[in-house]
Amino acid sequence: MGFFSESETKSDSHSGGKAHSCASCGLYRNVNSPKMKPYGKGKKGILNIGEAPGEAEDELGKPWQGKTGKLLKQVYRNLGIDLFEDCVNINSCHCRPMDREGNNRAPTPAEVDNCRRTTLQWVKEIKPRLIVLLGGSAVRAFLGNRMTQDLRGISTWRGFQIPDQDFKTWVAPTFHPSYVEREKERKEVETIWVQDLERAFELLNKDLPITPEPDIQYITDLSVLTKFGKHSEFMAFDYETTGLKPHAPGHRIVSASVAFSPDQVYSFLMPKTKAERRPLLELLQELTPAKMAHNIKFEDTWTRVRLKTQVNNWAWDSMQAAHLLDNRKYVTGLKFQTYVNFGVVDFSGDVSQYLRPRENSGNAFNRIDDLLHNPEGEHILLKYGGFDSYYQYLLSMKQIKELGYDFLPF
Ligand code: URA
Repeated sequence: MGFFSESETKSDSHSGGKAHSCASCGLYRNVNSPKMKPYGKGKKGILNIGEAPGEAEDELGKPWQGKTGKLLKQVYRNLGIDLFEDCVNINSCHCRPMDREGNNRAPTPAEVDNCRRTTLQWVKEIKPRLIVLLGGSAVRAFLGNRMTQDLRGISTWRGFQIPDQDFKTWVAPTFHPSYVEREKERKEVETIWVQDLERAFELLNKDLPITPEPDIQYITDLSVLTKFGKHSEFMAFDYETTGLKPHAPGHRIVSASVAFSPDQVYSFLMPKTKAERRPLLELLQELTPAKMAHNIKFEDTWTRVRLKTQVNNWAWDSMQAAHLLDNRKYVTGLKFQTYVNFGVVDFSGDVSQYLRPRENSGNAFNRIDDLLHNPEGEHILLKYGGFDSYYQYLLSMKQIKELGYDFLPF
């Protein structure tokens, strides 16, 4: 089948098929303080992940000893946190990276990857209540092996308060202090940074929410949908299809999933005959339940073109709502939203590679059919579909609350 096992794709020492280690990196050979250890008493359970030691840190053998460290220490102190008493401090790259002239430089992505095994081992041992990710390298260090999508820069991440389920800790990404220093002219950068940190420290008083795995029902007879649908206020649904646009000849809806509540998630291959599909078609036509999707346009168009019916009573688009809540670029995808809201990383795992278009055209086919040649592939597809409507449902409910719409009768 060509699937990677979970342990391979989530390995902290491999990415893109490469092994990462100190031997393959070599930075440790030319520094005063190789493989710098975590530093700080961590009395309040905070773990700060910075970028890399600079000259001052390398000389003294501990993090945050130079000018940048002073700024961080001061800002933390203003917020009632002692950098070395209340926090443990580590870096994304554990040895000082230098340019040819012996000046500090930022670590390369590969250098951060080389350290990841140790970085994550420390996170496991330290068991922080809160991790502050300071800058883009820290995001890469912490998430680079778990997220298959392009991580983008710190501006995409800053300000989120993430209940990470793998490490059972709050995660708060924000700017690196040297970026704030460089942008001194722009007062708003510092204001945003301090606000992010203040909100991050408030998490120390907040229990970490646990996101349960969904219990997905895999069905072939859709009549069960009618039974539950009648009594449900909402249904989140999602299709897996052969491409993005339904109009081109040969495209079809391969599977669908429906969540009536977090405990009622159904996933199924789209039946071939209209008679077998009827329970779904009827649900879509009825006013209740009200319908929710992550990008309504997609499910609405595919329903009209390929199922030859219309969806009645659209109530919520979790992608639009995500944009309303945060209008930054690249943050509205369901996978990203699932991580930042529920702390669950990349639930689609290997399936995403089968859903990418084969070529660069709106009408292109993906490779979803390759999954259907055996029961294992089929199960993976249906599981992914179920996850999709489950997280979509959870996300919609959270957004409805956050936007204060919960009093509206849909
Ligand atoms: N900058 C960092 O990212 N880490 C340090 O330890 C010092 C400066």
